[in-house]
Amino acid sequence: MNILVINCGSSSLKFQLLNMENESLMASGLVERIGIAGSQMILKTTDGEKHVVQTPMKDHSVALKIVLDALVDPAYSIIKDLKEIDAVGHRVVHAGEEYSQSVIINDEVIEAVEKCVELAPLHNPPNLLGINAIMELMPGVPNVAVFDTAFHQTMPPEAFIYPLPYEWYEDLKIRRYGFHGTSHKYVAEKAAQFLGKDIETLKIITCHLGNGSSITAVKYGKSVDTSMGFTPMEGLVMGTRVGFLDPAIITYLEKKTEYNLDQITHILNHNCGVLGISCISSDFRDLEDAASIGDYKAKLALEIFRRTVKKTIAGYAAVMGGVDVIVFTGGIGENSIVDRAGILNDLEFMGICIDEEKNNTRGVEKCISKDDCPVSILVIPTNEELAIAKDTKKLVEG
Ligand code: AMP
Repeated sequence: MNILVINCGSSSLKFQLLNMENESLMASGLVERIGIAGSQMILKTTDGEKHVVQTPMKDHSVALKIVLDALVDPAYSIIKDLKEIDAVGHRVVHAGEEYSQSVIINDEVIEAVEKCVELAPLHNPPNLLGINAIMELMPGVPNVAVFDTAFHQTMPPEAFIYPLPYEWYEDLKIRRYGFHGTSHKYVAEKAAQFLGKDIETLKIITCHLGNGSSITAVKYGKSVDTSMGFTPMEGLVMGTRVGFLDPAIITYLEKKTEYNLDQITHILNHNCGVLGISCISSDFRDLEDAASIGDYKAKLALEIFRRTVKKTIAGYAAVMGGVDVIVFTGGIGENSIVDRAGILNDLEFMGICIDEEKNNTRGVEKCISKDDCPVSILVIPTNEELAIAKDTKKLVEG
């Protein structure tokens, strides 16, 4: 079974075609600048070659048509006919409280995703554009929606209710939803497999640390708490997002500066986090380079990031009554030796002991805790596309 996985952003889309008999990648790529000047598709084939197609793409439908044409183009030897694609899996960011699992897309699902546009105005509209375009271009092929929020629907009310007037939850659906669910679920399951243990016996803390970062407490296979909230802005200090913040700062800023609320929200999303503190970059490699030559603000940004991650790990261990496994994933979690070490130092009192030598690793599945450490510390590269394809296969096979 061949499955196409689509992840649509507002002006970009990522895709992967996977052969699910052996879970191998047949092609992958990215379309950039959809609807703006300079649109291009970059297609990666299995021989490692990159092929760039530059042509105007006025919308997602045109972009997806170019992707599908490339997949069947004899020049790239990927597939001969679109009939070789058995199903399409779509990443959809927000399903509100509607879905706790992936679903085959029908009119009812589309309506539910449309209803959540006001909760995820940046993400759900392009996700819907992708779904509609594929339905138009590949009629009859089953589409599956895999939601970022679904895995966290198992959180108990004490984890998802904000201390606001309760009717704001009832009337406005203001609550913690959590995001990155596909990644947290994937790496938690992989961690249990890696250790040869049943996930239903494990207390796992999954740290997805990338440009956007979140941590989830996974108790016996279920998400019981997570750091992102009503939107993906809450929680850890991120590349450009602020994370936890005293809400009074927002009203103070509105009074004291020329910014209106929309502008402040934009700044909190795009100009804060480690970029805001360091005034250098949102990219952790740049910050680590700057910190290594003594830049004060870069060092401070990294310290603040590591401290919020550490506090969240310790808090989630408390919530679960212990922790058996800590998983690092995402660009930073998988690759940053100094950040993993900086986050976990001083946690030996909780049985968390990182092995300096084993930690000297990047981008591979590996245990990095000391041999006699009661808590297993694992690096597990995430693969959201494969997770989406697996769910799609399962649902389509019925
Ligand atoms: P993601 O959003 O998961 O793609 O992660 C992007 C983040 O991972 C960026 O901040 C990168 O700087 C960071 N990253 C990638 N490789 C490394 C590395 N070798 N060391 C430190 N950070 C890295």
